[in-house]
Amino acid sequence: MRKLNFPVEDAIDVFDICISKIKNPDLKDRLENCKSSIQTAVTDYVDKAPRTELHTIATQNVINGNVTAEEMKKVYTDRMVGVTAPGRYIYDKWRASAPNNICPLCAQRTTDTLDHHLPKGHYPIYSVVPVNIFPACSSCNKIKLDAISVAPETDHIHPYFDNVEDELWLKAEVIEMKPASLRFYTVKPDDWDDIKYTRIENHFRLFELEKLYASHSGEELAMNYFRINKLFISGGAQSVRNFLEDSWLSMKSANVNSWQTATYEALFKSSWYQNGGFLM
Ligand SMILES: [Zn+2]
Repeated sequence: MRKLNFPVEDAIDVFDICISKIKNPDLKDRLENCKSSIQTAVTDYVDKAPRTELHTIATQNVINGNVTAEEMKKVYTDRMVGVTAPGRYIYDKWRASAPNNICPLCAQRTTDTLDHHLPKGHYPIYSVVPVNIFPACSSCNKIKLDAISVAPETDHIHPYFDNVEDELWLKAEVIEMKPASLRFYTVKPDDWDDIKYTRIENHFRLFELEKLYASHSGEELAMNYFRINKLFISGGAQSVRNFLEDSWLSMKSANVNSWQTATYEALFKSSWYQNGGFLM
């Protein structure tokens, strides 16, 4: 949904920091020996991600022949997430890295956790790999859980590799029943291929964005009621229309695909709303 800048940290540096305080010599040795496998996995990832081929990466139970998935996942949970863990400062930095702390998956709620694009439960080698980890809200993180993709169409939108911000794909229409409300839906941009559009459709459905945006737009209409009514009384439907157009263009200049942009475009294009449909 929202593109994020790549994390600047090197995967092996992050891994080194996380395992730096492991005292068990056998475990430390086995993890140390995973570095070359991790580097190879990162190279494979950054090669495949821009081509929507991450689903072709095989799931793993063992890394480098002798590190279990559980042991590798613990490098994240025990050595990056823990409050006193050596990698905690990196966790905190990444968690705060989204603009205005807005979740890149829903573009609405605030970030309060980290999400693994390829879930660490199935791809433990990517447990602390920077390009696989981004800030997200707990709700989106929970919805996604350990879901894995089996085809390009089901590859989740990746905040570091996918740009779905420039072309218009989110629209809304006014439901002409009082109180007025909005229904959100997706449209296919001309420049997109079918796979890219199916991915955004899947994303929209999986993260229940229609429900999320309808809820927030309902609040927006209620909060605007006083202003719209005042404009209608003083200048009629045309004054309402002018306000809605300004709002739409302002929202659009900030973000083509926000629910706010879709809301004001739909209201601006609804003569029913401007001619009294807004009345409760
Ligand atoms: Zn979210």
